[in-house]
Amino acid sequence: MTDYPKDLLEFRDRFHSEDACRDYLAQLRWPQGLTCPKCGGRQFWKMKRGVFCCHTCQRHVSITAGSLFADTHKPLRLWFEALWHVTNQKYGASALGMQRILSLGSYRTGWNWLHKLRRAMVRPGRDQLAGTVEVDETFIGGERSGKRGRGAAGKTLVLIAAQAAGHGIGRIRLARVANASAQHLEPAVSQAVEPGAAVHTDGWGGYNGLRKLGYKHAVVRPTAVVGENLLPLANRVAALLKRWLLGTHQGAVQPTHLDYYLDEFTFRFNRRTSGSRGLLFYRLLDQAVHLEPVLTRELKGGAGRAAK
Ligand SMILES: [Zn+2]
Repeated sequence: MTDYPKDLLEFRDRFHSEDACRDYLAQLRWPQGLTCPKCGGRQFWKMKRGVFCCHTCQRHVSITAGSLFADTHKPLRLWFEALWHVTNQKYGASALGMQRILSLGSYRTGWNWLHKLRRAMVRPGRDQLAGTVEVDETFIGGERSGKRGRGAAGKTLVLIAAQAAGHGIGRIRLARVANASAQHLEPAVSQAVEPGAAVHTDGWGGYNGLRKLGYKHAVVRPTAVVGENLLPLANRVAALLKRWLLGTHQGAVQPTHLDYYLDEFTFRFNRRTSGSRGLLFYRLLDQAVHLEPVLTRELKGGAGRAAK
């Protein structure tokens, strides 16, 4: 099913009631129809609030259980509005914008909603980059430039992997890395890039082991300073990322939450050529409905997610 509203009017017509929102979620969640997890039954009574009851064994199955919307007490309509808003802002939504648009009680609630949605921006088991991929790293935050192989104070090192597409950039992947040692760079590259791909880097020693990992490694620039003088594609991505962090988020991104901002940027970047905002909305909702519930208390810590 790739069936989504094309514009705001269609969106409002379509999702005018909780029932309409639930039906849409059900289609996304169970495209082949619902099967009872207990007895395998295929027939259900529709009960209140998106709960279905199995004909055979009376097991209750909820549309929102096990999804991003599981622990919410707010109407689904409001969540749909939030997703529409987030996917229709070219540069992404801010917590304040979210609070205003949805008339949420506090800035904090706007912030929580945004962060829940950011978690839906990582596609589980998403495809790795392939073909020719440029890999380099850049520092985010802080003022001073970094020292070779070490994270400078107040700065976070981010690995950029950018797939070449003609003269431009195809898809990207970003990952926060503790430092520029092979110990941290290699797992980040392995997560982001398919084995067998041609990986282009500068002469930084941290990349020397890539050939052993099964990549066609080419050093396309002999010199290297960690976090600086990036290869062209990675440099373009780094510039856009920094501008986005400064513009949309006024640079107010805490290092502990950086992973989620990197996910949002990647989600937007990799879909930047998609002409339809409705499609973006559909993709995000599809990912949200297949996501484990995010409890609000988990958001506050931020860090603690393994490198991807
Ligand atoms: Zn059953």
